[in-house]
Amino acid sequence: MQILRFLWVLIPFTTWAQPKVPTDYFRSPVDLEISLSGNFGELRGNHFHSGLDIRTNYTQGHPVYATADGYVSRIGIGHYGYGKALYILHPNGYTTVYGHLQRFVGDIQEYTKKQQYRRESYEIQVYPEADVLPVKKGDLIGYSGNTGGSGGPHLHYEIRDGSQRPMNPLLFGYKVADTRKPTIDKLRIYAMAEDTHIDHQDFNKDLRLTPTNDGGYLAERVEALGKIGFGIAAFDRLNSVENKNGVYRIETKVNGEPHHEVRFDKFSFAETRYINRYIDYAHWKESKHKVQKLFRESSNPLSVISATANDGFLEVMENQNYLVDIFVEDFVGNTTHIKIPVTGKQRISVKPETIKLTGEKYIASKVNAVTKGKFHIYMPADALYENTYLDFRASNDTLYLHKDHVPLHKNISVSYDLNESGLDNPDKYFIGRIPDWGKPKHYKTELSNNKLTIKTRDFGDYTLFKDTTPPTVRPINFSDKKWISNNETLRIKIEDDLSGIASYRATINGRFILMEYEYKDDSLTYYFSDDIIKDTENNLKLIVIDNVGNSTTFETTFYRKEL
Ligand SMILES: [Zn+2]
Repeated sequence: MQILRFLWVLIPFTTWAQPKVPTDYFRSPVDLEISLSGNFGELRGNHFHSGLDIRTNYTQGHPVYATADGYVSRIGIGHYGYGKALYILHPNGYTTVYGHLQRFVGDIQEYTKKQQYRRESYEIQVYPEADVLPVKKGDLIGYSGNTGGSGGPHLHYEIRDGSQRPMNPLLFGYKVADTRKPTIDKLRIYAMAEDTHIDHQDFNKDLRLTPTNDGGYLAERVEALGKIGFGIAAFDRLNSVENKNGVYRIETKVNGEPHHEVRFDKFSFAETRYINRYIDYAHWKESKHKVQKLFRESSNPLSVISATANDGFLEVMENQNYLVDIFVEDFVGNTTHIKIPVTGKQRISVKPETIKLTGEKYIASKVNAVTKGKFHIYMPADALYENTYLDFRASNDTLYLHKDHVPLHKNISVSYDLNESGLDNPDKYFIGRIPDWGKPKHYKTELSNNKLTIKTRDFGDYTLFKDTTPPTVRPINFSDKKWISNNETLRIKIEDDLSGIASYRATINGRFILMEYEYKDDSLTYYFSDDIIKDTENNLKLIVIDNVGNSTTFETTFYRKEL
């Protein structure tokens, strides 16, 4: 019967316009009132947010429920990312995802532990068959937590379509209290051709906004000629919570005609990194404002952009007047309206511009291979979104790779030639990024052919770091030769000063024990409920290895009587 129930799971979803979805199929994943600290499509670093971040009163341990019948089709546990996550496939083809969980329950927890012990790894990705872990709508599946790349206790909840594309969960009938209009951070105008001028200059600029009676804004009049585009930084607040969520829809009209639309109903994970093409990346790095460009440039396949005339650009002609309307909406339809009057005018002062371009021009569609000092840089075709002037320089063991105001879509590789470097123990070195503040960022560094090589998708300053210090290990809730019969856990702090923790393995009396690593507090935790320990005298052995292979072996004895 179980098999039959799931024969019809692969119904494809091919609708392109406003998706038609069931609005009464899924229940809430929590007992709490749904309040969001993040919504769908929100602009995050290198990706659009793929679900809802549901608030859990700043605490962990709230029950999480299957939102409809189905079965656990995937269990993912990682140190980063979703942390402890469950994926449930439903008979109508959708998958729901529950991320950053503190723990699972019942059969799911038991099955997961078994898999972890079998693989001797905390991190796992498993895909159980349909009959292994069936669930009913409303079944308790786990408790909310803060595992993985989570900045505080919450539940990350997703609904994916039959092609594993995340969809806006609010389309499915979830209600959030929101009567507040989106807030506009800034409006920008872009000169999109060489002969374009804006207010008699060549530059992109912010436009001054004056509030209007309807709660919207009137922008200062623009005098321009040629190809221009607009961009907007905006956020939305729900009722009674102050954090900034993303907006749902941005529509542009020119002289009352539909011109451009962006709407966050769904996207695919394959396209999410194009966010770096979509936003004004350099402006984000300079100002911290994420401006969404309301036009489609080359190398931007984003499916959230629809219904564009002239790709959202406006060709301003001499002596013509235009009224540009931008409507910024939240999911409920609260709208902030911005009016921008534009007049086509010849440039008044034609003073010669000195365009300062440093570096060399790199053609985006080509492979680019360059040597700078002891460094070799290899950029595959289409690593860049567009042809760009880049400034690469090297000085001794430091490489200046332009600056991170230019986005990279693909990994480039950076190699350091050891031939004339005279380094001893090259395996103790890694290539890392020099941070503006704090610790250097470690990149996985391969040593082969007398070269150190990393892959990176970030421009910036890189140098060689040497790490000869092994990780430190310190018990948190026990000490050597002590009785700890009352402990529910063994907790140990592990830290590494420079390259970072690469792996760890613990045994008690020679048997593997599962330790859960939490990078946010540098801790390893073993739960005695795993029931590995049968003896009174126990020898714990823990080996921790850093990213260049320095290792620490920690051994201790503790005593325990099962109560
Ligand atoms: Zn999230």
